[in-house]
Amino acid sequence: MKMLLGGQWVRRDKTIEVRDPYDDSLIDTVPRATTDDVQAAFGFAQQGFESTRQLSVHERAQVLHRTAEIVHVNSEEFARLIAREGSKTIREARKEVGRCVNTLTISAEEAKRILGETIPFDSFPGGEGRRGFYYRFPVGVVLAITPFNDPLNLVAHKLGPAIAAGNSVVLKPATVTPLSGLKLAEAFLEAGLPPLALQGITGNGSEIGDALVQDNRVRMISFTGGVETGERITRLAGMKKLGMELGSNSPVIVWEDADLDLAVQSCVSGAFWAAGQNCLGVQRLYVHESVYDAFKDDFVRRTSRYRIGDKLKEDTDMGPMITEDEARRVESWIEEAVKLGARVLTGGERKATLLQPTVLEHVPEEARIHREEVFGPTVNLYPVSDLEEAFEKANSLPYGLHAAFFTKSIDLAFRAAYSLDCGGVMINDSTDYRLDSMPFGGVKSSGLGREGIKFALQEMTEPKVICFNLSGA
Ligand code: NAD
Repeated sequence: MKMLLGGQWVRRDKTIEVRDPYDDSLIDTVPRATTDDVQAAFGFAQQGFESTRQLSVHERAQVLHRTAEIVHVNSEEFARLIAREGSKTIREARKEVGRCVNTLTISAEEAKRILGETIPFDSFPGGEGRRGFYYRFPVGVVLAITPFNDPLNLVAHKLGPAIAAGNSVVLKPATVTPLSGLKLAEAFLEAGLPPLALQGITGNGSEIGDALVQDNRVRMISFTGGVETGERITRLAGMKKLGMELGSNSPVIVWEDADLDLAVQSCVSGAFWAAGQNCLGVQRLYVHESVYDAFKDDFVRRTSRYRIGDKLKEDTDMGPMITEDEARRVESWIEEAVKLGARVLTGGERKATLLQPTVLEHVPEEARIHREEVFGPTVNLYPVSDLEEAFEKANSLPYGLHAAFFTKSIDLAFRAAYSLDCGGVMINDSTDYRLDSMPFGGVKSSGLGREGIKFALQEMTEPKVICFNLSGA
């Protein structure tokens, strides 16, 4: 596939291969952009902003509705592309396409709800005779950098609100999964987006990342990816708005009165969705000691039934990890935990990129698989008996995207909601739940700002005050 620069789809002599992580087959190549391409992209994006800022709200909404329709009509093609270039099974990929349609539709709707307020200027002496209001205006050029694990919907979460707000965008999709994002860019152009409003630059983050994030023509960086990359960008960015959706290490607490069947079912799915390469993936499961054995037995039973392998087969439950290096990393974290005293209850074996879904217990706190974001198909079980201790353990790491609590007690549910330190608390659900319109983001190292269209729109616009001095009238 070519990249999108200045309204044209362009090739470059140097390319990057996009391979299917399941069988290493070559799917396509994309240009390996240089820093000159980055310079050109921002020049075009600045011109693009001159068109997007002139678009009426109904024109922006129409482009977004049409793009949603194009994605909807071509759902199966999008799903197959997601499933081939990334880790998701075809069933997981279809769900992502459906969510992308929602994200774009919500963006179209929210474009019509960018509101301002009148300001009571005369609320202090000296303000008499002044009347006015504020309204929100687009920030300008938005730089969108996206990760590999949701290669379509996370691009939509940036392009949707940016276009709804009237901005232009330079998109840098993940190096290993650029195709779904580029196909979405095609859909935007087909839907009538002004040609310079969107640039789609493909390349290695390590080669063009600094040139992208340091450019002063960028008014906002909307980044989704790992904490390390996010921290580097934050240090280099300078005077720009920043939206940072970063990683986590999500805790779930299953209390003694919980519906165990529901808890097991949703936590197995939450741990192994997209082969655990999910920012909301369940990583630490604290289970009340009185139900620990029953929970564990059922959890291990359901996990060991998982069918892993070919992502395009309808009955595959879990696909490969994104690269063999990543699968080896997670395998080595499992081995380290075992050396430190952990026990593998099921899984642990790896063949190339395929890592069996793995359940561990007795994982010591010094193990990396406890402390850091694993981003792979493993989960740790820990028995707990005291509620405050469970909250403390859940909160003990420097991440905070989602946490979850299973109980039938409304009192305990509220205690959990107020005690768990994170961007969202799911009650009777695993941490892996997101509605595309809700405020989404993390505390601590998990992020800065919020996505979810209405909330991203706040970040991607700025209020401008208009004040009439009527005192002489
Ligand atoms: P990553 O940080 O390696 O890469 C993310 C993007 O940043 C890619 O496009 C990459 O090419 C680019 N990049 C890499 N180095 C760069 C640099 N120096 N400057 C600028 N850009 C650079 O992340 P990944 O491996 O693609 O994705 C996994 C991570 O993303 C996990 O930590 C996961 O938790 C996180 N994530 C967070 C959310 C969220 O909404 N909070 C959602 C999905 C994934």
